[in-house]
Amino acid sequence: MEEVGTGLLDRLDAMQRVAASAPGGPLLIVAGPGTGKTRTLTHRIAYLCAELNVFPEQCLAITFTRRAAEELRHRLDGLLGPVAEDVTVGTFHSLGLSILRENAEAAGLPADFRIADDADRSAARTEAGDDAARYTALLRKQDLVDLDELLTLPVALLRADKKLVREYRDRWRWIFVDEYQDVDAVQYELLRLLSPADGNLCAIGDPDQAIYSFRGADVGYFLRFSQDFTDARLVRLNRNYRSSAPILAAAVQAIAPSSLVRGRRLDPARLDPEAPLVGRYPAASVSEEADFVVRTIDELVGGLSHRSLDSGRIDGRSTSLSFSDIAVLYRTDQQAAPIVDALARANIPVQKRSHDRLRDRPGVAAIARELRHADGVDGPLAARVRLAGQAVAERFAVPTLDGAGLVRPEDVRSAVDLLTPLARRCGDDLELFLAQLATGAEVDALDPRAEAVTLLTLHAAKGLEFPVVFLVGAEDGLLPLRWPGSEPADEAVAEERRLFFVGLTRAQDRLYVSHAARRVRHGAERECRPSPFLDVIDPGLFERFGDAEPRRPRDRQLRLI
Ligand code: ATP
Ligand code: MG
Repeated sequence: MEEVGTGLLDRLDAMQRVAASAPGGPLLIVAGPGTGKTRTLTHRIAYLCAELNVFPEQCLAITFTRRAAEELRHRLDGLLGPVAEDVTVGTFHSLGLSILRENAEAAGLPADFRIADDADRSAARTEAGDDAARYTALLRKQDLVDLDELLTLPVALLRADKKLVREYRDRWRWIFVDEYQDVDAVQYELLRLLSPADGNLCAIGDPDQAIYSFRGADVGYFLRFSQDFTDARLVRLNRNYRSSAPILAAAVQAIAPSSLVRGRRLDPARLDPEAPLVGRYPAASVSEEADFVVRTIDELVGGLSHRSLDSGRIDGRSTSLSFSDIAVLYRTDQQAAPIVDALARANIPVQKRSHDRLRDRPGVAAIARELRHADGVDGPLAARVRLAGQAVAERFAVPTLDGAGLVRPEDVRSAVDLLTPLARRCGDDLELFLAQLATGAEVDALDPRAEAVTLLTLHAAKGLEFPVVFLVGAEDGLLPLRWPGSEPADEAVAEERRLFFVGLTRAQDRLYVSHAARRVRHGAERECRPSPFLDVIDPGLFERFGDAEPRRPRDRQLRLI
């Protein structure tokens, strides 16, 4: 046993080791981007089980997205072997669902209650009108619960039943929460009910990467952790293993005016003396910006793949750059189109990642319903999804209105493709498959092995890393995002700056920041200034490409936003 434990911690640096091997009690790990949060969290669980005789079934690890939960599970499997299966790993919603399943009767629900899908919801809403109470009653009549209720109902149950609280606290004596800066009020209350104030709650996150306040997250819960939990231990991880020194220096300067971490520090573990500066490209127009991206990708992949044949090294690192090493990040989805077009014209393969939920895709709800109603069919879900798809396709031979919108026959094939990876992961467990769909399983459009440049929004880039990153549209009005005629509040600007910080810190070796001097926004072409977030970065960290000053258009009347 000892050897296993020691070996485990050997793979961590000194502070990661302190965090992973900290004794029980509340523990807050404040850790910047690229400091190895997931590595530390999984090693802590593995260490506790291997060294301190904690039973894996006493551990509950909570993340925010299903993808992150799968990643955590995968890494735990690697560290702990088969017993990792006994650790409960899930999202807040899946945790709420399992508590409700175990206590359906006490919650006034039948054992086989279902989660309302979009079609159920819109039907109930149409019938109930504005009567919020009647809406819930209509769902209940069909044994349905709404998605939000997966959290509010367990909280209500636990609040009313001290014995139940004791039972759960007894079961999960060790709780771990990743990305704690993103908890909202209900999630926080659920945690407080599950963990006593002096419990073994380990929260890990980075307040400077809190970017979800628009959907109710409140970084305040992170900041007051030590008030909420008794004698909380605080560990900081400052050593960044991801980014080159110039990239990291630029990122730290960019976040400084809004940092929520006192004395924010990020020390580069990588000190390549030859590391390139941050590229900055002031483009005259959106198409010029797109051309810059294409040209640079072409040079990097073409040039480096030739060079790598000789030496296999660049900037002191072994390299053979391929399209899959490259990401283009932007603030709003609309910015993708010109980049996609330009890449396509240059025959560069692209994959675009969205934050879409599977259940919002046309045809998915129809297939889910078909699966639910297909009696007596057993066997692997992937095959059942295909069969259900065929049945639905026959019925939807002409475009038909479904709960999720207009469904065309071709949507039902692609829906089968979208559902197949999730179906495979669920084996033959239909309940699990439907629950994952209802609790927001994301479209798995991103294939890390695909030989393609990845395009994604800054929000969707959270937690990821790429050797080469282009951050396009670094303009006032996009970063920070602003509607014409309105000034964002200080707090909104701070959140935009955090988003910018998230973007910069995705890059490992090369980072390019570009901005266009004019862009069509809100239906009109407008003149754009570079993002004010760039002003606080030392110009010495940039290498400028292209024109020193973008050309100003004279022939058109332009409005300034
Ligand atoms: P983010 O806040 O962006 O999600 P993170 O803190 O979760 O970042 P990770 O993605 O876990 O960071 O780690 C960043 C990179 O650093 C990964 O490539 C990881 O393998 C590497 N890394 C982490 N810790 C170490 C270590 N002790 N030694 C070597 N590499 C490490
Ligand atoms: Mg991470």
